[in-house]
Amino acid sequence: MARRHIAIIGSGPAGYYTAEAAQKTFGEDVRVDIFDCLPVPYGLIRTGVAPDHQSIKGVSRRYEKVALTENVRFVGNITVGKDISIAELQELYDAVVLATGAPRDRDLGISGSDLGNVYGSAAFVGWYNGHPQFADLDPDLSGKTAVVIGMGNVALDVARILAKSREEFAGSDIVTHALDMLVASKIERIVILGRRGPHQIMMTPKELGELGRLERACPHVHKDDLPDVAEDAMLEPGLRKSATILRQFAAIPEDIRAEKPVAIEFAFFAQPVALIGDGKVQAIEVEQTELVRGRAQGTGKKGTLEADLVVACIGYRTSPIPGVPFDERAGRFANDEGRILPGLYCVGWARRGPSGTIGTNRPDGYSVIEAITEDFDSGTIGKGAKQGREGFDKLAAERGLDIVTFRDWKKIEEAEERAARADAPREKFVDIEAMIRARD
Ligand code: NAP
Repeated sequence: MARRHIAIIGSGPAGYYTAEAAQKTFGEDVRVDIFDCLPVPYGLIRTGVAPDHQSIKGVSRRYEKVALTENVRFVGNITVGKDISIAELQELYDAVVLATGAPRDRDLGISGSDLGNVYGSAAFVGWYNGHPQFADLDPDLSGKTAVVIGMGNVALDVARILAKSREEFAGSDIVTHALDMLVASKIERIVILGRRGPHQIMMTPKELGELGRLERACPHVHKDDLPDVAEDAMLEPGLRKSATILRQFAAIPEDIRAEKPVAIEFAFFAQPVALIGDGKVQAIEVEQTELVRGRAQGTGKKGTLEADLVVACIGYRTSPIPGVPFDERAGRFANDEGRILPGLYCVGWARRGPSGTIGTNRPDGYSVIEAITEDFDSGTIGKGAKQGREGFDKLAAERGLDIVTFRDWKKIEEAEERAARADAPREKFVDIEAMIRARD
C-alpha cells in the first residue's frame, strides 16, 4: 500500500489527538507532519490553559509520546499562508487538516471597545501566559475596579488570576513579567458581568469552586439575584452543581467577606452597551436584561459601572485562511463533519467553534481520521503518489525556511526549565527570537 501523507496545521490538542488517531489507524503506513507558526508546540495547552492549572497542562506528556514516534514529526516556526500555502500543502500531502483553533477574540461590538485598557481574553490570557504576540500588552492594573465580561470558564480564569497573591502562584508557570505586575496590582473589585442569569452561566463547578478558596479575594453573590432553590432541580447536573456553589457564595457572612481585600462580584442580567472613557476606559454602561426564549433581551433600564480595566471573555473566532471556505457567523471554517473540500479537513475549535474541554478534541481527532479513511477508501483522496515530508523538506530548503524540530523544542524546553523561578516549572520565552536562540 502506498504511504499516506497527512499535514496537520496547528500543534495544540486538536492537532496532536488527530496525529495520535492517524498513528493508531494507519500505523507504519502513515507519515504525519504537524506544522506550527510558533517554534514551540502545544498551542492552547501552553498559551491558553491557565498557568495555575498545571495538572491540565500535564496532558502534553501524552502528546510528546506521539511526537517522539518515527512517523509523526513537529515542524515548528512555519506559518501556513506565508511560508507555504494551503494549495502547496495539498500538492504535497494526501490530507491537510486545519487544527488552528480559535485564536482571535470575538468582537464586543459596542462603542468604546477601542479605548485603552480594554482587552479581549485571547490578548489578556496570552499576556500572562507568555504568548509572543501579547507579551508586550502592558495592561494598567493601577485602578480599583476590573470588569470581566462573560460568565464562562475563561472569565473565571481571568478573575482568579487578577485576584491571586504571589504565594498562590507557586507551582504555576505564569511568566515573570505578568506575575510582577499582578502582585503590584491595585485592583480591589472584580466584577464578573453576565448578560443572563445564575441558571445560564457557562462556568463549570470545579472551576467556579476555586473562587471560594482564594487567599485575598472573596466571591460576592447577592441572595436576591438567585432564583428559587426549587428551580435548581430542573438544571442538568453540572449546572446544578454550579448553581449550588453560587448559593454557597451568597451565604458567606459579611464579616468573613470583609476580611479579604479583594471582592469578586457577580452581576447577572447586565449586558454591556458602551464603554466610556477619555482615551482609557473609565466606566461601562450596562443595560438590565431579561430572558426571552432563553436569550438576553435589554429592558431599557441602564446604569453605569466604574471600570479601570475591562477584559471581555466572550468567546473566540478562528482566523480565516485565504481560499478556505469560512462560516462568518459561526467564526470557524465552513465544514461538513470536518470535511471542508476534498483533501482539506478541520478539527477541534476550527471545526466546531470554541467550546468543550481539552478532552473533547480527542473524539474530534479520531472522527476526522475516520473521514480521511473513508475518503482514501472511496478514492476521493490518495489517487496519485504524494511526496509528503520529502517534498516539503525540498521546498523548505529552496525557500530557506528555518524549521524548528521536536528535538529543537526539547532544547528550548530545557532552557525554559533552567530559567524557572524557584517555585515554577519553567520560565517561558516570550519572543520568537529568544526561543530560536535557545535551540542553537
Ligand atoms: P463560553 O463558555 O462560551 O462563555 C462565554 C460567555 O460570554 C458566556 O457567558 C456568554 O453569554 C458571554 N457572552 C458572549 N457574547 C457576549 C456579549 N456580546 N456580551 C456579553 N456577554 C457575552 O466561552 P469561554 O469562557 O471563552 O470558554 C471557551 C471554552 O473553553 C468553553 O468550553 C470553556 O468551558 C473552555 N474552558 C475550560 C476551562 C477549564 O476547564 N478549566 C478553562 C477555560 C476555558 P451567553 O451564555 O449569554 O452567550
